[in-house]
Amino acid sequence: MVYNISELKDFAKELLQRNKNIDSAIDEFLIKMGSFFDVDIIVVKEKTENGAAIKCTYEWSRKNHILLRGLERRFLDNAWDEWMVRYKEGNGCYRYYKGENSPMILMQQRETESLIQIPVFSGDNLLAAVDFVDSERIRDFNDEEPALKEICKFLYDEFFIKRAPRRDAEVLKKKLDRDALTKLFKIDRFTRKVNECISKDKSKKSAYVIISSDIANFKYINEKYGYNTGDLILKKLASTLFLKINGIVSCCREYSDIFLTAVKVDKSYDNAKVKEFVDNCNNAFLDEIRSITEDTSIAINSGFAFVGDHGITVEEAITGATAARKAAKDMALYNTSRCCAYESGMIANKARMAELVSSCDRALKNHEFEVYFQPKVLCATYEMVGAEALIRWKKSDGTFVYPDEFIPAFESNGCIRKTDFFVYDYVFKFIRERLDKGQPCIPISMNVSRIHLFNNHFVDYIQSLLDKYKIPTDLIEFELTESICLEGLPSVVNTLQWLKQQNIKISIDDFGSGYSSLEVLTRLPISVLKLDRVFMKKDLSNNDKIIISCIVEMARLLGLDVICEGVEEDAQRVFLIEACCDKLQGFLFSKPVPTAEFVKMMEREFAIA
Ligand code: C2E
Ligand code: CA
Ligand code: CA
Repeated sequence: MVYNISELKDFAKELLQRNKNIDSAIDEFLIKMGSFFDVDIIVVKEKTENGAAIKCTYEWSRKNHILLRGLERRFLDNAWDEWMVRYKEGNGCYRYYKGENSPMILMQQRETESLIQIPVFSGDNLLAAVDFVDSERIRDFNDEEPALKEICKFLYDEFFIKRAPRRDAEVLKKKLDRDALTKLFKIDRFTRKVNECISKDKSKKSAYVIISSDIANFKYINEKYGYNTGDLILKKLASTLFLKINGIVSCCREYSDIFLTAVKVDKSYDNAKVKEFVDNCNNAFLDEIRSITEDTSIAINSGFAFVGDHGITVEEAITGATAARKAAKDMALYNTSRCCAYESGMIANKARMAELVSSCDRALKNHEFEVYFQPKVLCATYEMVGAEALIRWKKSDGTFVYPDEFIPAFESNGCIRKTDFFVYDYVFKFIRERLDKGQPCIPISMNVSRIHLFNNHFVDYIQSLLDKYKIPTDLIEFELTESICLEGLPSVVNTLQWLKQQNIKISIDDFGSGYSSLEVLTRLPISVLKLDRVFMKKDLSNNDKIIISCIVEMARLLGLDVICEGVEEDAQRVFLIEACCDKLQGFLFSKPVPTAEFVKMMEREFAIA
C-alpha cells in the first residue's frame, strides 16, 4: 500500500496560513498525522541548541496523556553516536516492539506495541527524531516508512525552521500549558487543576461535573465563513462564556472545537438539573455566536459526567462526558443546545471490542457473515426500485451480533475492509448470477466505511470486481455518510469522482443526523440523498414536517434524488408523498431480509409487473 501524503502537505499549508502560532500549528499537525497514519502517539525529540542533550519538544497522544513533553535528557557519552548506529542498521530508521530490550526506557513504560523512529538530518547532522507509536497492534510500518520519512523532513523544513530561537525553558513550559489560540489550559494542566481542587475541597457539600462541548460541524463553519471567523468563535467560546459560568473550576480546549469544563455544583444536583444548567449556558453562548456569523442554524453538542460517581476519576469523567457528547449529536434538535448525561454503557467496552475484532477472521472463514437486503420502494405504489445490502453476523451458536456493535469495532482496527469487501463481492456476484439467468435486477446499494477513503484500496477493489463480474454499473450504488463528505479530503473527492466516471451512483447516508450542509455536498458528485431515520418520529409535528419538506424541496431543486429511511408508519408515508419525497426504506414495507427471502420478493414484484 502506498501512502499519498499530498493531502497532509496541503493541510500543512493551510494550517500555516491560518495559524500565527507555530507551536500550535505543529500541535495540530501532529493530530492530523496521528489520524492519517492511524497511530496512537507521536513524539518529537530535538537536540538542544548546545547539542548536549535531547529534549522532547512536541507530543501528541490519542488518549491525551502527555508524558514526555518538555523533558530534557543529557546525553551519556556517545549516546548520539549510538543512535546513528541504530539508524544505519535499520536502513535509516529504528523500530521497537513491546518486550524488546531498548535504550528508550520511557517508551517501554508507555503502552507501546510497535514503534518506528524517524530521524531528521541536515547533511550528516542529526537534528531531531520523531517516534510513531501504535499501542495496540503489532505493525511493521513497512508501508508507512517512505511516507513517514518524507513527512518528517517536510515537518522540519516547513514548520521547525520557522520557529523563533527557543526561549527559556520555564517560559516555554508555561506556554506549553496553554492553548495558543484561546489561552485556555491544555488538557493536562486542566486535569491537574481539577484534581487539585477536588482534593482540597473537604466540605462534602459539592459535586463536580465534567462537561465536554463542541460546535456542531465546526468544519462547515470554517469552510463557509473562513478560518478567521472560526477562530473568533472559538475565542468567544473561551472568553465570554466558559469563564463566566457559575461555579467554574477550570476549562480547557481539548483540541479543535472541543472544550472541557469542570464545574462545582450543589450536591443535590441530578442529571436533569445539570442538563438545564448546561442548556442555559449553551443557549447564551449561541446568542453570542449569532452576533458574529448571523447564522441561526448553529448548534452546540454537550455531554457531561459526574466525578466521583461510583468512584469515577476526573480522567474517566472526561471519557464519559466525551461519549455523552457524541450521543448528544444524534439528538434531533436544531439551532440549539444538545446535551446528554453520561450513562454506563456509552463507552464501548474495550474488552468486548477486542473480542469482536479478534473473531473477525475466524468468522469470515466460518461463513458467519451474511448479507441481508432491505428494499427501497416508491411511497405511492410500493413498487420496488432498489435495495440496500446490510451485513449480519450470525455466530455459530445462532446468536446475532448487530452491525451497530461490531462495525465501530471493525472500523477502529481496519478489519472493516475485509467485511465490506466480502459484502461487495457478494452483491456483485448476486447481480451477475441473476443477469446470467436472465432474471430482472434492481440497483443494490452498499455501505462505505470512512476508512476506505484514506487510500486507494477501495477504488482498486471495486475496479477488480467490475473486471471480474462485468455488471452494468447502474445496478450498484454506494452509500457514504454525510460526515465523510464534509471532511472534504482530497482522497474522498478523488474516490467520488472515480465512482462518477464509472457511472456508479453515490448516496449520502444518514443525511440530517449531522449538520446537513447541502451547499457543501452539492460540490461533490452525489446523486441521492438519504434522509436519516431521526426525522421519522412517531408523531411528526408541524415543525418536523416543515423541515422535511424544505430539505426535500431543496434537494430536488439541486437535482438530487431523495429517499427517506426508517419509515415505520403509514402516516409517515402519506406525509412523504405530500412532501414530494417519492421513495422510502423502512420496516413499514420490509425489514432487511436474507437473500432467499429477497429473491422471493423480487419474483413476486416482477411476476405482477
Ligand atoms: P444504515 O446504513 O443507516 O442502515 C440502515 C439501518 O436502519 C439498518 O440497520 C436497518 O436495519 C435499519 N432500519 C431500516 N429500516 C428501519 C426502520 O423502519 N426503523 C428502524 N428503527 N430501523 C430501520 P443495521 O442493519 O443494524 O445497520 C446499522 C448500521 O451499520 C447501518 O446503518 C450502517 O451504517 C452499518 N452497516 C450495516 N451493514 C454494513 C456494511 O456492510 N458495511 C458498513 N460499512 N456498514 C454497514
Ligand atoms: Ca446505509
Ligand atoms: Ca442510514
